[in-house]
Amino acid sequence: MTSRFYVETLGCPKNEVDSEKLVGTLLAQGLSATDDESEADVVVVNTCTFIEEARKESIDTILALSERRKKGARLVVTGCMAERYGDELRANLPEADQIAGFGVAIETGVAASATAVTLGKKPGIAVTAQPVPSFDLLNLPRPASRTPWAYVKIAEGCDRNCGFCAIPSFRGPQRSRDVTSILREVDELQAKEIVLVAQDLASYGKDRPDELGAGSIVDLVRQVSAKVPRTRLLYLYPSDLSDELIDAILASGVPYFDLSLQHVSKPHLRRMRRWGDGERFLKRIADIRTREADAAFRSNFIVGYPGETEDDHDQLLSFVREASLDWCGFFEYSPEEGTYALNLPDQVPAGLMHERIAELRELQDAITASKRDELIDASVEVLVDEPGVGRSHREAPQIDGIIRVPTSLAVGSFATVRIADAQGPDLVAEGTDANEGSAQGANHAG
Ligand code: SF4
Repeated sequence: MTSRFYVETLGCPKNEVDSEKLVGTLLAQGLSATDDESEADVVVVNTCTFIEEARKESIDTILALSERRKKGARLVVTGCMAERYGDELRANLPEADQIAGFGVAIETGVAASATAVTLGKKPGIAVTAQPVPSFDLLNLPRPASRTPWAYVKIAEGCDRNCGFCAIPSFRGPQRSRDVTSILREVDELQAKEIVLVAQDLASYGKDRPDELGAGSIVDLVRQVSAKVPRTRLLYLYPSDLSDELIDAILASGVPYFDLSLQHVSKPHLRRMRRWGDGERFLKRIADIRTREADAAFRSNFIVGYPGETEDDHDQLLSFVREASLDWCGFFEYSPEEGTYALNLPDQVPAGLMHERIAELRELQDAITASKRDELIDASVEVLVDEPGVGRSHREAPQIDGIIRVPTSLAVGSFATVRIADAQGPDLVAEGTDANEGSAQGANHAG
């Protein structure tokens, strides 16, 4: 019988792409996938270290899967946490059979050509997979998407140096993929909506000045948009949002702007080693709304970064009120090893951080709810993701709210529906039964 594997993915969309490529590799090695971890011969956990909470979730998941795996199944821990804390995990997690950082092949314990497959960590097990350099993971083939939408990672790593962020220290500098390999992947996925992701999307191509160069994202968006009805972009650093890029996004079928702002107070942004200020951001948002009144916006903010004063916080509150964005994520600052901010003075006490974040979330929840209410009676085009669940351009998959639609609408089809009701972040289309559709939850980390 073929050996089976189970992959659990934590963290961001970029991790999901890595997991899919891992799945492609394991399938190519002759293993088959299972959705039931208790039946798998190899259980892989693709971890996240974004903040303390993410690390805790990763450890809890590893321990829970270790309990649920069948006797003799291998447990492999990979992803950001394995890369960053490999030695600590090896020393403290005897449950894991392998801690595989980036570029390390998953040891399935399965001999590809052997008919008698040996599993478990007994001596003498054949390990067939060759080491896969982390960057090569980007260019590995993927199976066709199981959903009508799919993430496509266009670059790995980041060349910026934001004070709070450890990503460049373990993901490395930016490496942009070839346009041809990205377009091939878009074709292979056979999805209706392609969601382009990278650590710093708008910087795509800057690391390859001769072949690609700064601003290459514009042409890439145009080329992807020519292949699929919807192209969505996640994580745009605000300084690179050029007029050309805005035009390309407006023509992509998804006038959705995910601006990675992080804060709005100018002195505080400089402490964060980031560009911009609230006034510039508001102006850019107003420009876009003038060009496309229906444009939707999302942003993320870090609350309680060292040195954040009452005045900085008040500026952020005013901005959130004035900008009236569709979606905002607020994250508490978490000190990360290897970052500039780790030893900065004026750390904000936890209690104050909780208060500030609660105030911001309450304000934004009311804004989001009122923007959703404004859509009642409007006609919107949805892509049906699963029975009873659709999304318009305003909702990014797995991140924002959803639109509950009649289950009679075929998965993968586009339909124009009239909005009959709003329920918090979610909308309900006319003709939908009270029990149809399933909430997928809004505002998860991004
Ligand atoms: S926050 Fe984003 S842009 Fe800044 S260093 Fe981290 S990955 Fe790069």
